[in-house]
Amino acid sequence: MDSFKYKDGTLYAEDVPARKIAEEVGTPAYVYSRETLLDHYTKIDKAFAEVPHLICYSVKANSSLGVLAILEHAGTGFDVVSGGELARVQKIGADMKKVVFAGVGKGDAELVQALRAGILMFNVESEAELENIDRLAGQLKAEGDMKEPARVALRVNPDVDPKTHAYITTGKKENKFGVDLERASGIISAAKKHAHVRVTGIHAHIGSQITDVTPYQESLTKVVSFIKTHRGKDVPIQYLNSGGGFGIYYADRKAQPAAKFAEVIVPMVKDSGCTLVLEPGRFICGNAGILLTRVTYVKESGNKRFLIVDAGMNDLARPTLYGAFHEIWPVEASELPPTRGGKPAEGEAYAVSDVVGPICESGDFLAKDRALPKGLARGDLLAVYSAGAYGFVMAGNYNTRPFVPEVIVKGGAHYVVNRRQTVEELLARESVPQDLL
Ligand SMILES: *Cc1c(COP(=O)(O)O)cnc(C)c1O
Repeated sequence: MDSFKYKDGTLYAEDVPARKIAEEVGTPAYVYSRETLLDHYTKIDKAFAEVPHLICYSVKANSSLGVLAILEHAGTGFDVVSGGELARVQKIGADMKKVVFAGVGKGDAELVQALRAGILMFNVESEAELENIDRLAGQLKAEGDMKEPARVALRVNPDVDPKTHAYITTGKKENKFGVDLERASGIISAAKKHAHVRVTGIHAHIGSQITDVTPYQESLTKVVSFIKTHRGKDVPIQYLNSGGGFGIYYADRKAQPAAKFAEVIVPMVKDSGCTLVLEPGRFICGNAGILLTRVTYVKESGNKRFLIVDAGMNDLARPTLYGAFHEIWPVEASELPPTRGGKPAEGEAYAVSDVVGPICESGDFLAKDRALPKGLARGDLLAVYSAGAYGFVMAGNYNTRPFVPEVIVKGGAHYVVNRRQTVEELLARESVPQDLL
């Protein structure tokens, strides 16, 4: 599952004691395992080996340059959703012919940046965007900066419910993403009159943290039938992009292995005659990261115990934003965490606790009503598991708290790939003109 394991009562990230990293870089700190990243990528790659496929890692899940470089080296392409993310993959020297660009509101500067870079294709979300890409590509052509038409995949909304959290459902007809299949037909016909774009793919990303294969079955059945119909109408669709969304293991053992998703997706891809594009994010990096945090104070109030830790909602927003569950367990522990094969945390030795951050918001918590060892005290280190996806990338500076460091472990070595921000750096962009006063 991942490379965070207890040996002799202390947590290791691969072969490095988590305690050692915390002592060196301080807390809070994100720690990622290279081995786990590669393992999860390889699992998907192998599961889909039977069909021509391109894995475009979804940069928004974890955009650390170190993580991107490791995955690029292993052969992934990238799915970006902004000019900033495109700049990240450009910076690590990624092959632009393996980059796709998604997002409902791509701005002109971002589109031009991607057109100049020569990315594989844009996932287009509306007719207005298609027209805009045609216009910008036409301008670049006139300036001699582009020879070929821009390649696009039309993002369709297949109206299926992946039964995940409402904020991460994207494929229902009331969501802002993509266009319904009927409208998509009209857009594809109309696209023929645009000289500077070519529709070469259909894209359908239906949501995130999906732990059931059925929504993919439903969605791709509609999409494949759509592709076949349009091929009959002389629209040579080459790419079927099923997006990301494969769920991971947080609390229960509900997550499916990649092979289970492949079982339903591969036959449909074969039937479509297309190259499959996948955009996994969380599946690759979610379980590959932990957040290390230290207990600042222990306090009892009402009949609750609060463990006040040095990481807050600005460092890890998921519990606050989605009510997400992250396993939390001491770094020094004789028992394994309950969700990782340990005994249920019950009885005398445990106390029901809220793990809360230092931020001045009641919503600032990492866990509620969690049974944790009674003996926990000020200074003790805790690991927050499955924090590799949508963790650091969603961090902010609320309460003027600097960004925390990111560390990648490789075997017995560890590397700080993003050092802790200083307060001076945080304040450096601001100024107070005298005239203001
Ligand atoms: C967020 C997103 C993904 C990645 O989703 P995961 O659940 O992390 O796999 C892929 N494609 C698109 C278009 C996205 O918006």
